[in-house]
Amino acid sequence: QATYIRKPKWLKTKINTNESYRELKHLMRDKKLNTVCEEARCPNIYECWSERQTATFMILGDTCTRGCRFCAVKTGLPNELDWGEPKRVAESVAIMGLKHTVITAVARDDLKDGGAAVFAETVRQIRTQNPGSTIEILPSDMKGDYESLHTLMDSGPDIFNHNIETVRRLTKKVRAIAMYDRSLQLLQRVKEIAPDTPTKSSIMVGLGETKEELIQAMDDLLAHDVDIVTIGQYLQPTKKHLPVERYYHPDEFEELKQIALEMGFRHCEAGPFVRSSYHADEQVTQASAQ
Ligand code: SF4
Ligand code: SF4
Repeated sequence: QATYIRKPKWLKTKINTNESYRELKHLMRDKKLNTVCEEARCPNIYECWSERQTATFMILGDTCTRGCRFCAVKTGLPNELDWGEPKRVAESVAIMGLKHTVITAVARDDLKDGGAAVFAETVRQIRTQNPGSTIEILPSDMKGDYESLHTLMDSGPDIFNHNIETVRRLTKKVRAIAMYDRSLQLLQRVKEIAPDTPTKSSIMVGLGETKEELIQAMDDLLAHDVDIVTIGQYLQPTKKHLPVERYYHPDEFEELKQIALEMGFRHCEAGPFVRSSYHADEQVTQASAQ
């Protein structure tokens, strides 16, 4: 029987909606778009959206063919492919005036290319309509299909992001279908295709991992030439999802950040509310300046 631990005070957020935030919410409905910011109930949404820094669009539908035990996205039969979506995402980026756009997608294991063609078209459309903004892609592992990976990389993203999510031992329990080594190999392959494109990965803590395992995971990422790591607290989206085993103190995140930087990552974001796309706009310049 799982036990639930009380949320510490540093995780209590203030809801701070403003005009800018409400406008963007309307825009998303109007354009029939999904964002991770909303789907994953991200605690940073008011900051990211109000300041119009970053938004993470989730393309290829709102239903995933996988069912990871930490993730709030619904699982089931996937939606029809929508070739109008790339254009609507690009128009929204322009209306929002975003500095940095993150494009992610539900896993589409039903499609031969995992959705790579629509994904790449979205990057191209954003680039054409918003030449000044930067683009980060956060795809699934596409079941390790390198042809799909090439399709994605041909679109020329500024950052390639793929999350290992957790340490090796907990991967099977936490992620569905994805494999620890396959994710590492995908990140490595990106460096072979585009050596100058920064790569990035994210780890959630609080799922029962040890500090040694976390350091090992960071070591594994570095061994696969990953440039940026983000580390954040896992928060249970609903009672049906994996329980939180432990809440890390902000000081522990600071310590993990120092460890990551000493180990050799070019950039690290670590904190209770850090998500894969948190402060992502700052990482493009920092990672490519070195
Ligand atoms: Fe969206 Fe990422 Fe910002 Fe969260 S941190 S609100 S997912 S852009
Ligand atoms: Fe969520 Fe897993 Fe699907 Fe990604 S692959 S959207 S983490 S269920």
